[in-house]
Amino acid sequence: MGSIQLKSVRKAFGGVSVINGVDLDIKNGEFAVFVGPSGCGKSTLLRLIAGLEDVTSGEVLIDGKAVTDVGPAQRGLAMVFQSYALYPHMSVRNNIAFALKMAGEKTDVIERKVAKAAATLNLTDYLDRKPRQLSGGQRQRVAIGRAIVREPKAFLFDEPLSNLDASLRVQMRVEIGELHNDLKTTMIYVTHDQVEAMTMADKIVVLDKGSVAQVGTPLELYNRPNGLFVAGFIGSPK
Ligand code: ADP
Ligand code: MG
Repeated sequence: MGSIQLKSVRKAFGGVSVINGVDLDIKNGEFAVFVGPSGCGKSTLLRLIAGLEDVTSGEVLIDGKAVTDVGPAQRGLAMVFQSYALYPHMSVRNNIAFALKMAGEKTDVIERKVAKAAATLNLTDYLDRKPRQLSGGQRQRVAIGRAIVREPKAFLFDEPLSNLDASLRVQMRVEIGELHNDLKTTMIYVTHDQVEAMTMADKIVVLDKGSVAQVGTPLELYNRPNGLFVAGFIGSPK
Protein backbone atom coordinates (compact mmCIF):
# COMPACT_ATOMS: atom_id res chain seq x y z
CA MET A 1 0.00 0.00 0.00
CA GLY A 2 1.42 3.35 -0.98
CA SER A 3 2.52 3.21 -4.61
CA ILE A 4 1.84 6.34 -6.65
CA GLN A 5 1.82 6.58 -10.42
CA LEU A 6 1.30 9.51 -12.73
CA LYS A 7 0.31 8.94 -16.36
CA SER A 8 0.66 11.84 -18.82
CA VAL A 9 -0.40 14.30 -16.16
CA ARG A 10 -0.98 17.84 -17.40
CA LYS A 11 -2.09 20.88 -15.48
CA ALA A 12 -2.93 24.29 -16.85
CA PHE A 13 -4.04 27.37 -14.96
CA GLY A 14 -6.13 29.71 -17.08
CA GLY A 15 -4.81 28.18 -20.29
CA VAL A 16 -1.17 28.37 -19.17
CA SER A 17 0.36 24.91 -18.95
CA VAL A 18 2.48 24.41 -15.83
CA ILE A 19 2.73 20.59 -15.78
CA ASN A 20 3.41 19.28 -19.26
CA GLY A 21 2.69 15.56 -19.36
CA VAL A 22 4.44 13.91 -16.42
CA ASP A 23 4.86 10.14 -16.09
CA LEU A 24 6.12 8.84 -12.78
CA ASP A 25 6.26 5.61 -10.85
CA ILE A 26 6.84 5.83 -7.12
CA LYS A 27 6.99 2.49 -5.40
CA ASN A 28 5.57 1.58 -2.04
CA GLY A 29 8.01 2.56 0.69
CA GLU A 30 10.16 4.72 -1.54
CA PHE A 31 11.55 8.10 -0.48
CA ALA A 32 11.13 10.23 -3.61
CA VAL A 33 12.32 13.81 -3.83
CA PHE A 34 10.97 16.32 -6.36
CA VAL A 35 13.66 18.90 -6.94
CA GLY A 36 13.98 21.83 -9.31
CA PRO A 37 14.17 25.59 -9.39
CA SER A 38 11.44 27.84 -8.05
CA GLY A 39 8.39 27.88 -10.30
CA CYS A 40 9.15 24.57 -12.09
CA GLY A 41 5.93 22.97 -10.80
CA LYS A 42 6.99 20.95 -7.75
CA SER A 43 4.18 22.14 -5.47
CA THR A 44 1.60 21.83 -8.24
CA LEU A 45 2.66 18.24 -8.91
CA LEU A 46 2.42 17.39 -5.21
CA ARG A 47 -0.99 19.05 -4.96
CA LEU A 48 -2.21 17.04 -7.96
CA ILE A 49 -1.14 13.85 -6.17
CA ALA A 50 -2.79 15.04 -2.93
CA GLY A 51 -5.98 15.90 -4.80
CA LEU A 52 -5.78 19.55 -3.79
CA GLU A 53 -5.77 20.37 -7.53
CA ASP A 54 -7.52 18.52 -10.33
CA VAL A 55 -5.49 17.32 -13.31
CA THR A 56 -6.29 19.00 -16.64
CA SER A 57 -5.62 15.64 -18.30
CA GLY A 58 -3.90 12.37 -17.48
CA GLU A 59 -4.25 10.20 -14.41
CA VAL A 60 -3.00 9.87 -10.87
CA LEU A 61 -3.07 6.29 -9.54
CA ILE A 62 -2.69 5.25 -5.92
CA ASP A 63 -2.04 1.55 -5.40
CA GLY A 64 -2.94 1.00 -9.04
CA LYS A 65 -6.32 2.72 -8.89
CA ALA A 66 -7.13 5.98 -10.67
CA VAL A 67 -8.12 8.61 -8.11
CA THR A 68 -9.37 11.25 -10.54
CA ASP A 69 -12.75 11.41 -8.81
CA VAL A 70 -11.43 10.81 -5.30
CA GLY A 71 -11.21 13.85 -3.03
CA PRO A 72 -8.11 14.69 -0.98
CA ALA A 73 -9.51 13.37 2.31
CA GLN A 74 -10.27 9.98 0.72
CA ARG A 75 -6.89 9.45 -0.95
CA GLY A 76 -5.25 8.24 2.26
CA LEU A 77 -2.25 10.54 1.86
CA ALA A 78 -1.05 13.11 4.36
CA MET A 79 0.40 16.45 3.38
CA VAL A 80 2.95 17.85 5.82
CA PHE A 81 2.91 21.61 5.80
CA GLN A 82 5.52 23.99 7.14
CA SER A 83 5.44 24.32 10.90
CA TYR A 84 3.77 27.71 10.81
CA ALA A 85 0.60 25.97 9.63
CA LEU A 86 -0.02 24.71 13.18
CA TYR A 87 -3.09 25.94 15.04
CA PRO A 88 -1.57 28.54 17.41
CA HIS A 89 -4.36 28.45 19.99
CA MET A 90 -4.28 24.64 20.38
CA SER A 91 -1.92 22.57 22.49
CA VAL A 92 0.52 20.21 20.82
CA ARG A 93 -1.78 17.35 21.86
CA ASN A 94 -4.78 18.92 20.16
CA ASN A 95 -2.82 19.90 17.07
CA ILE A 96 -1.76 16.27 16.64
CA ALA A 97 -5.22 14.94 17.50
CA PHE A 98 -7.11 17.35 15.27
CA ALA A 99 -7.55 15.19 12.16
CA LEU A 100 -8.58 12.20 14.27
CA LYS A 101 -11.20 14.25 16.10
CA MET A 102 -12.52 15.53 12.78
CA ALA A 103 -12.74 11.93 11.57
CA GLY A 104 -14.82 11.05 14.65
CA GLU A 105 -12.31 8.64 16.21
CA LYS A 106 -12.95 7.43 19.75
CA THR A 107 -11.20 9.28 22.57
CA ASP A 108 -9.15 6.29 23.73
CA VAL A 109 -7.98 5.58 20.17
CA ILE A 110 -7.02 9.23 19.76
CA GLU A 111 -5.09 9.22 23.03
CA ARG A 112 -3.19 6.06 22.09
CA LYS A 113 -2.29 7.33 18.62
CA VAL A 114 -1.23 10.76 19.87
CA ALA A 115 0.94 9.17 22.58
CA LYS A 116 2.59 6.89 20.03
CA ALA A 117 3.27 9.72 17.57
CA ALA A 118 4.60 11.93 20.38
CA ALA A 119 6.97 9.17 21.51
CA THR A 120 8.21 8.64 17.93
CA LEU A 121 8.85 12.37 17.56
CA ASN A 122 10.27 13.09 21.04
CA LEU A 123 7.33 15.31 21.90
CA THR A 124 5.98 13.45 24.93
CA ASP A 125 7.06 16.17 27.36
CA TYR A 126 5.61 18.95 25.23
CA LEU A 127 2.03 17.80 24.66
CA ASP A 128 0.49 20.51 26.83
CA ARG A 129 2.45 23.38 25.31
CA LYS A 130 1.24 25.78 22.65
CA PRO A 131 3.20 26.01 19.38
CA ARG A 132 4.69 29.38 20.37
CA GLN A 133 6.30 27.71 23.41
CA LEU A 134 8.25 25.33 21.15
CA SER A 135 11.48 25.55 19.19
CA GLY A 136 11.36 25.53 15.38
CA GLY A 137 12.39 21.87 15.27
CA GLN A 138 9.74 20.88 17.79
CA ARG A 139 7.11 22.76 15.82
CA GLN A 140 8.14 20.92 12.68
CA ARG A 141 7.83 17.62 14.55
CA VAL A 142 4.29 18.56 15.59
CA ALA A 143 3.45 19.23 11.93
CA ILE A 144 4.76 15.74 11.10
CA GLY A 145 2.86 14.30 14.08
CA ARG A 146 -0.39 15.62 12.68
CA ALA A 147 0.27 13.52 9.59
CA ILE A 148 1.55 10.38 11.37
CA VAL A 149 -1.60 9.81 13.44
CA ARG A 150 -3.60 9.48 10.25
CA GLU A 151 -1.47 6.46 9.29
CA PRO A 152 -1.33 7.57 5.67
CA LYS A 153 -0.32 5.46 2.67
CA ALA A 154 2.17 8.19 1.86
CA PHE A 155 3.50 11.40 3.34
CA LEU A 156 3.74 14.43 1.05
CA PHE A 157 6.17 17.11 2.23
CA ASP A 158 6.29 20.51 0.51
CA GLU A 159 9.54 22.25 1.50
CA PRO A 160 8.82 21.53 5.16
CA LEU A 161 12.17 22.82 6.39
CA SER A 162 12.51 26.00 4.38
CA ASN A 163 11.72 28.29 7.32
CA LEU A 164 14.22 26.65 9.67
CA ASP A 165 17.81 27.78 10.13
CA ALA A 166 20.61 25.82 8.48
CA SER A 167 21.72 23.62 11.39
CA LEU A 168 18.17 22.74 12.33
CA ARG A 169 17.46 21.85 8.69
CA VAL A 170 20.29 19.33 8.75
CA GLN A 171 18.99 17.83 12.00
CA MET A 172 15.42 17.59 10.71
CA ARG A 173 16.61 15.97 7.48
CA VAL A 174 18.19 13.23 9.55
CA GLU A 175 15.05 12.89 11.67
CA ILE A 176 12.77 12.61 8.64
CA GLY A 177 15.14 9.97 7.24
CA GLU A 178 14.92 8.04 10.52
CA LEU A 179 11.15 8.35 10.48
CA HIS A 180 11.14 6.84 6.99
CA ASN A 181 13.32 3.98 8.20
CA ASP A 182 10.96 3.37 11.12
CA LEU A 183 7.64 3.64 9.30
CA LYS A 184 8.75 2.42 5.86
CA THR A 185 5.92 4.48 4.42
CA THR A 186 6.16 6.09 0.99
CA MET A 187 7.35 9.68 1.21
CA ILE A 188 7.41 12.37 -1.45
CA TYR A 189 9.51 15.32 -0.46
CA VAL A 190 9.58 18.57 -2.41
CA THR A 191 12.59 20.85 -2.19
CA HIS A 192 14.56 23.33 -4.27
CA ASP A 193 17.65 22.36 -2.25
CA GLN A 194 20.00 20.02 -4.11
CA VAL A 195 21.77 18.93 -0.93
CA GLU A 196 18.46 17.92 0.64
CA ALA A 197 17.61 15.94 -2.47
CA MET A 198 20.99 14.21 -2.66
CA THR A 199 21.08 13.25 1.02
CA MET A 200 17.46 12.17 1.53
CA ALA A 201 16.26 10.51 -1.65
CA ASP A 202 16.02 6.91 -2.80
CA LYS A 203 14.79 8.39 -6.06
CA ILE A 204 15.21 11.96 -7.29
CA VAL A 205 12.80 13.46 -9.80
CA VAL A 206 14.35 16.56 -11.38
CA LEU A 207 11.73 18.93 -12.73
CA ASP A 208 12.35 21.64 -15.31
CA LYS A 209 9.55 23.96 -16.44
CA GLY A 210 6.77 21.49 -15.71
CA SER A 211 8.49 18.44 -17.22
CA VAL A 212 10.57 15.63 -15.76
CA ALA A 213 14.17 16.28 -16.78
CA GLN A 214 15.47 13.03 -15.25
CA VAL A 215 14.64 10.39 -12.66
CA GLY A 216 17.29 8.39 -10.87
CA THR A 217 19.13 7.64 -7.66
CA PRO A 218 21.31 10.45 -6.32
CA LEU A 219 24.39 8.59 -7.57
CA GLU A 220 22.95 8.03 -11.05
CA LEU A 221 22.08 11.70 -11.44
CA TYR A 222 25.43 12.80 -10.13
CA ASN A 223 27.45 10.42 -12.28
CA ARG A 224 25.29 10.33 -15.39
CA PRO A 225 23.20 13.50 -15.74
CA ASN A 226 21.28 13.29 -19.00
CA GLY A 227 21.82 16.90 -19.97
CA LEU A 228 23.13 20.30 -19.04
CA PHE A 229 20.11 21.19 -16.92
CA VAL A 230 20.47 18.20 -14.58
CA ALA A 231 24.25 18.47 -14.61
CA GLY A 232 24.07 22.11 -13.66
CA PHE A 233 21.39 21.57 -11.09
CA ILE A 234 22.93 18.58 -9.34
CA GLY A 235 26.34 20.18 -9.62
CA SER A 236 28.34 17.63 -11.56
CA PRO A 237 30.09 18.66 -14.80
CA LYS A 238 29.01 16.50 -17.72
P1 ADP B 1 7.35 25.39 -7.42
O1 ADP B 1 6.67 24.74 -6.27
O2 ADP B 1 8.29 24.48 -8.15
O3 ADP B 1 8.06 26.65 -7.05
P2 ADP B 1 4.65 25.83 -8.39
O4 ADP B 1 4.11 24.48 -8.59
O5 ADP B 1 4.25 26.57 -7.17
O6 ADP B 1 6.25 25.80 -8.51
O7 ADP B 1 4.27 26.75 -9.64
C1 ADP B 1 4.49 26.34 -10.98
C2 ADP B 1 3.91 27.37 -11.89
O8 ADP B 1 2.50 27.36 -11.80
C3 ADP B 1 4.34 28.79 -11.55
O9 ADP B 1 4.52 29.50 -12.76
C4 ADP B 1 3.17 29.32 -10.78
O10 ADP B 1 3.06 30.72 -10.93
C5 ADP B 1 2.00 28.62 -11.44
N1 ADP B 1 0.86 28.41 -10.53
C6 ADP B 1 0.87 27.63 -9.42
N2 ADP B 1 -0.34 27.63 -8.83
C7 ADP B 1 -1.12 28.45 -9.58
C8 ADP B 1 -2.50 28.87 -9.50
N3 ADP B 1 -3.30 28.44 -8.52
N4 ADP B 1 -2.95 29.71 -10.44
C9 ADP B 1 -2.15 30.14 -11.45
N5 ADP B 1 -0.86 29.78 -11.59
C10 ADP B 1 -0.35 28.95 -10.67
MG1 MG C 1 6.58 25.22 -4.25
